[in-house]
Amino acid sequence: MANEKIPYKIYLEESEMPKAWYNIKADMKKKPAPLLNPATGKPMTAEELSAVFCDELVAQELDEENAYIEIPEEIRDFYKMYRPAPLVRAYCLEKKLGTPAKIYYKFEGNNTSGSHKLNSAIAQAYYAKKQGLKGVTTETGAGQWGTALSMACSYFDLDCKVFMVKCSYEQKPFRREVMRTYGASVTPSPSTETEVGKKILKEHPGTSGSLGCAISEAVETAVSNDGYRYVLGSVLSQVLLHQSVIGLETKTALDKYGIKPDIIIGCAGGGSNLGGLIAPFMGEKLRGEADYRIIAVEPASCPSLTRGVYAYDFCDTGMVCPLSKMYTLGSDFIPSANHAGGLRYHGMSSVLSELYDQGLMEATSVKQTEVFEAAEYFARIEGILPAPESSHAIRVAIDEALKCKQTGEEKTIVFGLTGTGYFDMVAYEKFHDGIMEDYIPTDEELEIYRKKLPKIG
Ligand SMILES: *Cc1c(COP(=O)(O)O)cnc(C)c1O
Repeated sequence: MANEKIPYKIYLEESEMPKAWYNIKADMKKKPAPLLNPATGKPMTAEELSAVFCDELVAQELDEENAYIEIPEEIRDFYKMYRPAPLVRAYCLEKKLGTPAKIYYKFEGNNTSGSHKLNSAIAQAYYAKKQGLKGVTTETGAGQWGTALSMACSYFDLDCKVFMVKCSYEQKPFRREVMRTYGASVTPSPSTETEVGKKILKEHPGTSGSLGCAISEAVETAVSNDGYRYVLGSVLSQVLLHQSVIGLETKTALDKYGIKPDIIIGCAGGGSNLGGLIAPFMGEKLRGEADYRIIAVEPASCPSLTRGVYAYDFCDTGMVCPLSKMYTLGSDFIPSANHAGGLRYHGMSSVLSELYDQGLMEATSVKQTEVFEAAEYFARIEGILPAPESSHAIRVAIDEALKCKQTGEEKTIVFGLTGTGYFDMVAYEKFHDGIMEDYIPTDEELEIYRKKLPKIG
C-alpha cells in the first residue's frame, strides 16, 4: 500500500524550501476590513503606520494584490539553520488510538525559541535592520515570541526591548534569562517606564498584567524613541504572511507523496501559526481548486472565535494601536488567572476572522484539563513534550481520529505542532497534582467586555 512508502518523517531538500511567502489576502474575494485610525475612524495610511512599524512590513501589511512575496536571501539562509521543519507521520499515535485515520503533524519546535515564532521574528528583524533602525520593541506573554525576537535581533545586531506580562515574568524566570542571553532587555509589564504603564498601574494596582497592556507599553516606547519601531508576533497580516512557510513546506511534503489532507487543525491565539499552516490549502479553497475541513482550536477560557463578536476593536488595552475588525472578546478581557494553556489574546487575526465569518473554516474550544490530558498522552507516545498551546490542536486531532475509529473512515488529519513545553512545567505540575481547574467565562461576564467595544461601523 501507499502507506508503507511514507516515512515517519517527511523532510524536504533545501532546494525544495519556499522562496516566496504566500499572501492569502490576494486570493480572498472579500478582503479583511482595513485597520482604522482610532482618532479619525479612517483606514490607516502607510504613512501613519510607518510611525509604528518598519516600512517594508507596512507594505506587506497593506498588500492585497501580490499572492507571492519573495523571501529575501538573508532570511532564507537563516531559515536553513532550523528548517525545513519535519512533517511527521504519527504512526505510533495512530496505533495507540487504534484509528484508521492517518495523522500527520508539522513540528515547529526544533529551534531554541521552541516555537514557530522565529519564522516571523527573523523577517521582522531583517526589515528593521535594512531600514537602518537601532532596535525594536515588543511584548511577550508566555515568552516564546520575546525569545524568538531576541534571537533574531542578536543575529542582525539590533537592540531588543521586551515588555513581558508581569505574571509570566515572575512565573518563568528562565524564559527571561534566555532572552537576556540573546542580549534583549526584559521589563515586567505594566511598568513605570511608560506613561501608559503608569496609568494602568494607577487604575489597577497590583495587576499581574496582560498582553494588551504590554503591547501598549511597547508601542509607546517605540514611538517615543528615535530609531525604534514596534514589532508584533501574531495577529497582523504580515505575521501570517511570514508564517506561510509552515503551510508551504507542509503542502510540498504532502504533494511529494500524493497525500491530500481531509482535515487541517491548528491552535489559535492571535492566529499566526494557523493562518500560516492553512495558507496554501485555503488558497486552493478560495480559488475553488480543492476543499479541506479547517479547524481552529481555542481555549474555552479565551474563546474569541467561538464566543466573541465580529467587530472593530482595539488591539491593546491602552488603545494606542489601530482598530482592527476581528472576532474579539473586548480589549479589556483578561482570561482567568488559573488559565495556564496560553492563547490568551482577546482578539483574532483579521484575515482568519474574515475567513471564519465567510464560513471557510470552523472553530472549536477546549477546556484546559482536556488539553493537558492530550499533551501528556502525546508526550508519552510520540516522545515530544508539547507546548500547552500546541496541545489544543493535539486534543482535537485525537478527537477527530477517535471519530474515525467509530465510523471506520480513513481520514487524513494534519495538525500544527507549534512548539515544545519545557518552560511550561508549572502548568504541567498543576495538572499532575490534580489542581488544574477549568474556567469558562459566563455569558454575563463576556457581556461586560462586549459592551465596552468601540462603536464603529
Ligand atoms: C505563540 C504560540 C502560539 C499561538 O500563537 P498564534 O499566533 O495563534 O499561532 C501557539 N503555539 C506556540 C508554541 C506559541 O508559542
